[in-house]
Amino acid sequence: MRSTDAVGTLFVSDLHLDDARPHIVASFERFCAGEAREADALYVLGDLFEAYLGDDDDAALNARVAAALRGVADAGVPVHFIVGNRDFLLGEDYARRCAMDLLDDGTVIDLHGTPTLILHGDVLCTDDAAYLAFREQVRDQAWQRAFLARPLAERRAFAAQARDASRAHTSSADMAIMDVNRHAVESALRDAGVTRMIHGHTHRPAIHDFTLDGQTARRIVLGDWYEQGSVLRVDRDTAVLSGLSTN
Ligand code: MN
Repeated sequence: MRSTDAVGTLFVSDLHLDDARPHIVASFERFCAGEAREADALYVLGDLFEAYLGDDDDAALNARVAAALRGVADAGVPVHFIVGNRDFLLGEDYARRCAMDLLDDGTVIDLHGTPTLILHGDVLCTDDAAYLAFREQVRDQAWQRAFLARPLAERRAFAAQARDASRAHTSSADMAIMDVNRHAVESALRDAGVTRMIHGHTHRPAIHDFTLDGQTARRIVLGDWYEQGSVLRVDRDTAVLSGLSTN
């Protein structure tokens, strides 16, 4: 029986789960065994994993995370997933093991009566041309098929290299270009025909209210899980982001 004082709909992203941070993996397991099971639904908006090499990866971490998410689903809570730039190779096989469904990056959901656009958020960072070129390459179906056909050891080596390159890029790039582009945000909202979006990726948790075409609009940015879990809780009247509360 689910409790009647449900915690609303929960959103997380950018956990970057990795064997190098076992306490964060443990936090996520506690979250899945506890609060998440009381939710109306759980949405994971990408970068659940620091790196993800394919559904055939037999890493113990992947099995642990699948078991944790399946526990949420088995408690009667729908679990939804949008891939991020670290785990874009996560596919239907793994989703089935987690008992979650995969949504397209940029899906409009009815969130307690308010249509809301949900996405990982990297596509909003249009000032970062180098990253967008990389994204176009690795999101290509043919590139992914060829990559997934390579032995796991080779894929691990590639991922380590890509991670180093990403770190070097992140530390050298102007902080401003690593954030979302205002015009990209506005276009995404207009194209979706909504006034609210929720995304992660930038690791800059905040609730931004602004005016778009004369209407009040809101962009909620999820935080990462490097230090502690960042969770957004939404119900009909409120959105509470790990301590940041607003109506
Ligand atoms: Mn990301």
